[in-house]
Amino acid sequence: MEATRHNAEAGRVAVVTAGPGQLQIEPEENPVPAAGEIVVEAIATGVCGSDVHLFVGDHPYSNYPLVQGHETVGLVAELGAGVDPALQGARVVVEPTLECGSCPECARGAYNRCERLEVIGVQRTGSLAGRFVTRAGKAHRVPSASDAAGWALVEPVAVACHAVERSGAEPGELVLVLGAGVIGLSVALALSRREPRAVVVAEPSEQRRRRVEELGLGIAVDPDEVDALLAERAPSGADLVFEATGLPEVLGGAHHHVRPGGRIVVLGQGAGDFAMPMIVMTRKELTLVGTRNSAGQFPAAIELLSGSPEFVTSVITHRFHPSEAGQAFAELTTPGTAALKVLLEFA
Ligand SMILES: [Zn+2]
Ligand SMILES: [Zn+2]
Repeated sequence: MEATRHNAEAGRVAVVTAGPGQLQIEPEENPVPAAGEIVVEAIATGVCGSDVHLFVGDHPYSNYPLVQGHETVGLVAELGAGVDPALQGARVVVEPTLECGSCPECARGAYNRCERLEVIGVQRTGSLAGRFVTRAGKAHRVPSASDAAGWALVEPVAVACHAVERSGAEPGELVLVLGAGVIGLSVALALSRREPRAVVVAEPSEQRRRRVEELGLGIAVDPDEVDALLAERAPSGADLVFEATGLPEVLGGAHHHVRPGGRIVVLGQGAGDFAMPMIVMTRKELTLVGTRNSAGQFPAAIELLSGSPEFVTSVITHRFHPSEAGQAFAELTTPGTAALKVLLEFA
């Protein structure tokens, strides 16, 4: 699928979310890095589901003014004191999590759920500033590619790699993925390294189902057809289910599809409560696994995407200049939109 390309005059700007649904295009600033920090000049930023909620104002972390952007590829433009000089000018993707380094979760190595976690583009100035500051250790080099902007997909793919890691997926398992948005597709991509017996992706949109099959990521079915397919291929249920729709009712129904002793992994960030018969948890001895951000998965995500150029081409459906960020959000909030990953490209 060919991405819709923006035609705005190139030029560096900063995009500020001033309030719910309100964007301001401002001149790019020139931040100064402290010791151990770098300034990154963004090449491109992906807009994700949480960005839409932050923009609209119904995200628990919405707090204005805010400079969004946490899925970032850019060039290292300036180095603070003590940073390896070899990093100057490098093309990098930026891990958006900024952990405290001293809480019990950080001590466990689970910095993705640090008790004082701040995320670039949420609590800290994100890459829609154009030039922004972060810790040097959060930058990961990426290989040269004809489409440098495509590396903005590393962050969501790292989220998927982290979820697959937490799922304990084993070779030969039948895995059900609920939802074929960017995260659902990225989970299916990350699962390919675990040699599952089959990956079934449940998705109501026909266009999205076609993409799953074109990319060879699994068997795509309408959610209404999941039971019939499992009856044929895994009568006791799937070994593993990933919830990637963010809809509480979809999570609440996931137990119907999982076998006794199976696992349900929750990626969707729905705001509402979900309900499931309590007795099912014990009768089936189910394991419910939450997953948040990613920890240590950027190198794996870079490698995975390096080997999957067709994934990048297919998943990025729209590209806008940051000065057109309003159009990007409008596209993503249009019911039934064909948009999947929308990129804001600075050049
Ligand atoms: Zn995201
Ligand atoms: Zn911490």
